Amino acid sequence: MRGVVMYAPGDVRVEDRPEPAILKPTDAIIRLSATCICGSDLWPYRGADKVDEPMPMGHEYAGIVEEVGSEVTGIKPGQFVVGSFFASDNTCEICRAGYQSSCIHRELVGAIGTQAEWARIPLADGTLVATPDVPDADLVPDFLAASDVLGTGWFAAVAAEVGPGKTVAVVGDGAVGLLGVMAAQQLGAERIIAMSRHESRQKLALEFGATDIVTERGDAGVEQIKSLTSGLGAHSVIEAVGTQESMMQAIRSTRAGGHVGYVGVTHDVALNGDELFFSHVHLHGGPAPVRRFLPDLMDRIWNRKIRPGRVFDLELPLDEAAAGYQAMDTRKAIKVLLRP
Ligand SMILES: [Zn+2]
Repeated sequence: MRGVVMYAPGDVRVEDRPEPAILKPTDAIIRLSATCICGSDLWPYRGADKVDEPMPMGHEYAGIVEEVGSEVTGIKPGQFVVGSFFASDNTCEICRAGYQSSCIHRELVGAIGTQAEWARIPLADGTLVATPDVPDADLVPDFLAASDVLGTGWFAAVAAEVGPGKTVAVVGDGAVGLLGVMAAQQLGAERIIAMSRHESRQKLALEFGATDIVTERGDAGVEQIKSLTSGLGAHSVIEAVGTQESMMQAIRSTRAGGHVGYVGVTHDVALNGDELFFSHVHLHGGPAPVRRFLPDLMDRIWNRKIRPGRVFDLELPLDEAAAGYQAMDTRKAIKVLLRP
């Protein structure tokens, strides 16, 4: 089968990879209806994460079940399914508390590589959520978005305690930040301030429910958030980048007693203890337990209440994945959908 492999920073190839097979009786094999490139795939692409050997790429997926192992009971061939970037049993104590991305049996789907025609999904019963029927083709990008970026933006909003009456600020205008705006709108936030300096992303943020746009970043961005909130800062701040600057921008934009939901994969972030101590800001985040939210999010998509797939502004055949990485790296595309 065809699949994406990264050989080195900037060197992405589509080549023949072995077809997946059932390895454990709890596995399923799915045929990808669509797959995509994640902002986090850009860390190794840009050399910020090491590439020691050729790596299969991709951890977002939606598709049709082809085959299941002998112990899989809840998922059947022919179903359209979505899962998250961590496979999880959904039964252990951590999963039942809603933290499936820290499941005691978790397996990283990124190591399998879903930018491919087929993929083996471990712990199928716990990991995969099926739609009531095979969805219309136009909904596939929306379901694919639920696999990571929507679920991650949603978790950030929940971790930031977004709700009615709250003012929310969103740091980061990638797909996760933009869908954090959508989540904040769906969760009833009163005011949603998107921080972006890119016109096309500002436009999408406004369509997703942003009420204000702040173009400044760093301390100047913090000043803007304060000036929009009577000098107090936002109640809830979503951090969707993962750098030192974005993390400090998020913490400093939050009012005393407020909450930061951080989901950008951190790279060399160091927090100052004194500043944290005196900020009175709650911090909660990490790799999003997308599985917790999938049934609700997939229901909203099935009923066409939300269209998160609009973050895909470039669609390419899987074989042209290298061009997709380049488009995201240069910020010419927000998020690239790949068709196997
Ligand atoms: Zn578990």
